[in-house]
Amino acid sequence: MQVLHVCSELFPLLKTGGLADVVGALPAAQIAEGDDVRVLLPAFPDLRKGVPDSWVVKEFDALSRHGVLLYGRFNGVVIYLMDIPDLYDRHGSPYHDQDQFAYMDNYLRFAILGWVGAEMASGLDPAWRPDIVHAHDWHAGLTCAYLAAKGRPAKSVFTVHNLSYQGLFSAHHLPELALPDDFFQTYGYEFYGQISYMKAGLFYADHVTTVSPTYAREITQPAYGYGMEGLLTSLQTHGRLSGILNGVDDAIWNPTHDAMLATRYNRDVLEAKVNNKRHLQTAMGLTVDEKVPLFAVVSRLTSQKGLDLVLEVLPDLLEQGGQITLLGAGDATLEQGFLAASAEYPSQVGGQLGYHEAFSQRIIGGADVLMVPSRFEPCGLTQLYALKYGTLPLVRRTGGLADTVTDSSLENLSDGVASGFVFEDASAAGLQRAIRRAFVLWSRPSLWRYVQRQEMGLDFSWRVAAKAYQSLYQRL
Ligand code: ADP
Repeated sequence: MQVLHVCSELFPLLKTGGLADVVGALPAAQIAEGDDVRVLLPAFPDLRKGVPDSWVVKEFDALSRHGVLLYGRFNGVVIYLMDIPDLYDRHGSPYHDQDQFAYMDNYLRFAILGWVGAEMASGLDPAWRPDIVHAHDWHAGLTCAYLAAKGRPAKSVFTVHNLSYQGLFSAHHLPELALPDDFFQTYGYEFYGQISYMKAGLFYADHVTTVSPTYAREITQPAYGYGMEGLLTSLQTHGRLSGILNGVDDAIWNPTHDAMLATRYNRDVLEAKVNNKRHLQTAMGLTVDEKVPLFAVVSRLTSQKGLDLVLEVLPDLLEQGGQITLLGAGDATLEQGFLAASAEYPSQVGGQLGYHEAFSQRIIGGADVLMVPSRFEPCGLTQLYALKYGTLPLVRRTGGLADTVTDSSLENLSDGVASGFVFEDASAAGLQRAIRRAFVLWSRPSLWRYVQRQEMGLDFSWRVAAKAYQSLYQRL
């Protein structure tokens, strides 16, 4: 099976969120399962630099622009980079400028990505043609529409990593997209008078996946569907919507060989994890004390992630004697809230604003509890890392969090399936009760250790996801 992923991020070269982790790991796992898998991305500067020995396969004209298709390799995977320098040669985020303003020509930048993705199925690279074109998130949504317009020379899969980012653009741009006029309608990629790249992916793909089974069900409901719930319900009814859980890249996220940790450890020598905790407490200016439970947050700071709830319950957490450390960037109010708390309680609250890959590994290795109280969470990766690192995730029961963490209730402890703490309502009271349960379990060190061993034995390898995608492709 020949498979082409079409997307806009690739870990470790260019990352704004979990999408990059997926595209950075899934292709290699699929290749290991016997599929011929390649990746197409725009030639953003970080990607150009990371795939240095690329050569031109073909020149193309797309939507009145002239570009080149480059061929290279990264970590053993063939990477196609499509280059039109005045559209893609921009440093930093692929989506917005340094002042966080989305680029005005994003409609064109990502339409051409879709156009090239579809053209690959018609032989843009004369030496290789995909059977399946697998597009990711709104950035690649138009791929499925261009494929449909061409009479579907390949089957398409569209994966939703986050439905809240939709790629909405003014209908003024329609003539530039060169798609059939009748595609712009309710049963097409029109969304309340605008063009929706997300809806193009949902409507025109042969199959839609999301990154966890629970999120696939949740997005058929108004509370999670962003107005797309009708379309998503119809896809579900026709067996065209499913959820495949993300995995974890073991080469990076594994406490037995993680070079970022002060001390490496495994589920049989968990005592060594404490040394990482001491280092983290020191680095964050917290009181160094292994007896105090250390909570952590590693996250984008957006309302999705529910971190306003953490700020609300913070006084109570500190009152009970806990510590908290945060690594995050985003919403200015949340940033200010955590900075203020760390100024007020320096021995108990440590905050670092910004994006630091290595530090995120040290935090997840050193903390006792990782909090992910999201309002919605398509899959969530940090709780999976926490599970591998013997750090107990404390999560809200939604999306991939619900699919991966099992509450340490008495029944679950007794059945040997407890792996963290789970609460229901997106409310401070719900979060507070889960934190209380964490303190209670913390006061019983042998039970805590038992849950750590249990969670570290779970299998979140990409092999499982690669096999699930393989059987989906074969069915298509
Ligand atoms: P999302 O894609 O919604 O941001 P995920 O949990 O799926 O959430 O993926 C987030 C990824 O980004 C994880 O790999 C996480 O470790 C990483 N991450 C988030 N915030 C930071 C940060 N401030 N510094 C380093 N890594 C971060």
